[in-house]
Amino acid sequence: MNAIDTRAHAQSLDQADPLKDFRSAFVIADSDLIYLDGNSLGRLPKRAAEQLQNGIEATWGKRLIRGWNEAWMYLPEQLGARIAKLIGAQPDEVILADSTSVNLFKLASAALAARPNRQEILTDDLNFPSDLYVLDSAAQASSGRRLRILESIDQVYGPELQLQQALGDQTALLSLTHTVFKSAFVYDMAGMTRSAHEAGALTLWDLSHSVGSVDLDLNGSGADLAVGCTYKYLNGGPGAPAFLYVRRDLQDELLNPISGWMGRDDMFGFQRDFEPHAGIRRFLTGTPSVLGLLGIEAGVELILEAGMDALRAKSVAQTEYLIALFESMLEPLGFHLKSPRENDRRGSHVTLSHDLAWQIAQVLTQKMNVIPDFRAPDNIRLGIAPIYTRFEDIYEGVRRMQSVVENGLHLDVPAGAGGVT
Ligand SMILES: *Cc1c(COP(=O)(O)O)cnc(C)c1O
Repeated sequence: MNAIDTRAHAQSLDQADPLKDFRSAFVIADSDLIYLDGNSLGRLPKRAAEQLQNGIEATWGKRLIRGWNEAWMYLPEQLGARIAKLIGAQPDEVILADSTSVNLFKLASAALAARPNRQEILTDDLNFPSDLYVLDSAAQASSGRRLRILESIDQVYGPELQLQQALGDQTALLSLTHTVFKSAFVYDMAGMTRSAHEAGALTLWDLSHSVGSVDLDLNGSGADLAVGCTYKYLNGGPGAPAFLYVRRDLQDELLNPISGWMGRDDMFGFQRDFEPHAGIRRFLTGTPSVLGLLGIEAGVELILEAGMDALRAKSVAQTEYLIALFESMLEPLGFHLKSPRENDRRGSHVTLSHDLAWQIAQVLTQKMNVIPDFRAPDNIRLGIAPIYTRFEDIYEGVRRMQSVVENGLHLDVPAGAGGVT
């Protein structure tokens, strides 16, 4: 038995990994690069590159507008039905459209319209800032209602109890990011949804950091509404269209606030009045980004093939392993763990803080060929995408971080911020 903080131990864990062959389905352009940012942008599946190429040259190039009927028209539903399998939903409850932010606005507005006599959207300050801006806009646009933001005291755990206590007859909507982008804290979706329903409120979950990384059971949890991203753990490509979920029995009750022809019943009738399409399709607005959609299928199919149970088991093993390496190699150097230790409360990234986190992240990306991401003020997030991340990548990433601090390489970097990390 090797000591845990050795490369040989990491390699033995990779040898025993039942999912190890999935890595070869992805483009690995630089074998020395330690990529720990799959929670922000997943790797390119080889088959996605082929499908995009084919969609451009064979369909767009040769079939022109015939491509709509032959291939593109129902992509939003078809991909939605595949993603439904990953989130515990029915095939006709999920559809691809727009971006996560836009979908959040559409569903929050629809929920507010369905609860006209309640004044508040409830959320917390661990929510993604963009989600807070969007929820604010939706509240203001809906007869001046308000967004109430509860505080997480430690900025790691979601304030579940406080949120439950704050739910009341003024709450129209409880909207939370299921796996928190900063700390990877995972909300108890079923418990929070039950409390919201007891108060008469609807729930809207952002699954961006959850889909493809943690077990999700939207139907089993009674969730009303959800949105999520396809370019993170689903590996759908930069800016790929997002998905939205509306529970079946709510679909004909709720209205898309941005009525457009793609969401109209009989879209080619071109009548003057808007008549919403039955079911989930009413949440479409305009023509989808077809090229963006074409990049999504390969990544989703790989996740389905690997299976969420196996992926989640590997993700838990890998985040536990990373935390064990942190204790032995990084904690003595001034790093602190900013993610939950309980496996069932942690998503697939691990956050470490350090007083000089910004400088350390700079050296890692510019000199050490490690890509983590930095989140202000002092967090380094290490994202694990179990479909392609190896135990050895985790070991090597931690080892390079250790050497940056041990050798003081970060001490020459001036403080600053900017750019996408
Ligand atoms: C990544 C992410 C988004 C991204 O939204 P876009 O509209 O694609 O920019 C939104 N919310 C959360 C919680 C995210 O993690």
